[in-house]
Amino acid sequence: MRKKVIAGNWKMNNDISESQNLISKMTSRLNGKQLKCDVIICPPFTSLSEANSLIKNTSIKLGAQNMYFKESGAFTGEISAKMLKSVGCEYVILGHSERRTIYKEQDKLINEKIKAALKAELKPIFCIGETLEEREAGKEKEVLTKQLSGGLDEISLDQMKKIIIAYEPVWAIGTGKTASPQQAEDMHQFIRNYIKDDFSTDVAENLVIQYGGSVKPDNARELLSQRNIDGALVGGACLIADSFISIIESV
Ligand code: PEP
Repeated sequence: MRKKVIAGNWKMNNDISESQNLISKMTSRLNGKQLKCDVIICPPFTSLSEANSLIKNTSIKLGAQNMYFKESGAFTGEISAKMLKSVGCEYVILGHSERRTIYKEQDKLINEKIKAALKAELKPIFCIGETLEEREAGKEKEVLTKQLSGGLDEISLDQMKKIIIAYEPVWAIGTGKTASPQQAEDMHQFIRNYIKDDFSTDVAENLVIQYGGSVKPDNARELLSQRNIDGALVGGACLIADSFISIIESV
C-alpha cells in the first residue's frame, strides 16, 4: 500500500514574512491531526531556512524547487544539493515544466541533477509531462518515454526507490484545466509500466506517482482516488492555507 504524498510548489512567491504567515496558518490547522499522507512544502530558496525552523516538531517536510548538479564552484546564482541539505531539505523538485520551457532545461541536465540530488541524499520529485500540442498530436506517451529514459539514465534500482515522479501535463499547469481522472490514471499506469519494464515490478509497485496540474480542493478527491495516483504536486492552491489543507484532508 503506497502512502500518498501531497507537495506544495510555492514557485516564486512569498517573502519571509509571507512565508511565516502561510506556514503558521498551515501548522495551526494541522495541529493534532493524524495525517494519512506525507506533506511537503517547497518554498523559494530565500525562505527555506526559516521554513525549516517553523516546521520543526510538525510532520511537514521540506523541499526545494530546483538545484544545480555541481557540488560547488564558479556557478553564479546556483545552489547545490549540499546547500539544500544544510537548510533541512529532504526533497527537491527537478525537471518542472517551467524549468524545461523558460530555462530550456533538457533531459540530460535534469538527469545530472537527479544523480547529484541522490548522491547528496536528497529525494528528487522528478516532473514529466506533455504540452497541449504534443497531446493533440497523439504524442503524449512518446514524450513521457523520452523524458523518462533521459531523466532516469544511469539510475540504479536502489536509487529509483528514492525518486517520486510527478506527472504534470503542461496544458493543465496554472491554467485551471485539469486532466480528467481517467486521462491522468491512464498516464500514471503508463509510467508505472515503464518503471516495471525498466527497473522491476517491486520498484514500480512502490513508486509514488503524483499528479500535478490545477489540483484544487474540489477535484482532489476524485483524482486521488484513482488506483495509480499517489498524491499531488500542487501549485496555485498551495499558496492558500485553507485550500492546501483541504487537498491534504481529501486524502
Ligand atoms: C505546478 O506548478 O507544479 C502546478 C501543478 O501548478 P498548478 O497547481 O497551479 O497548476
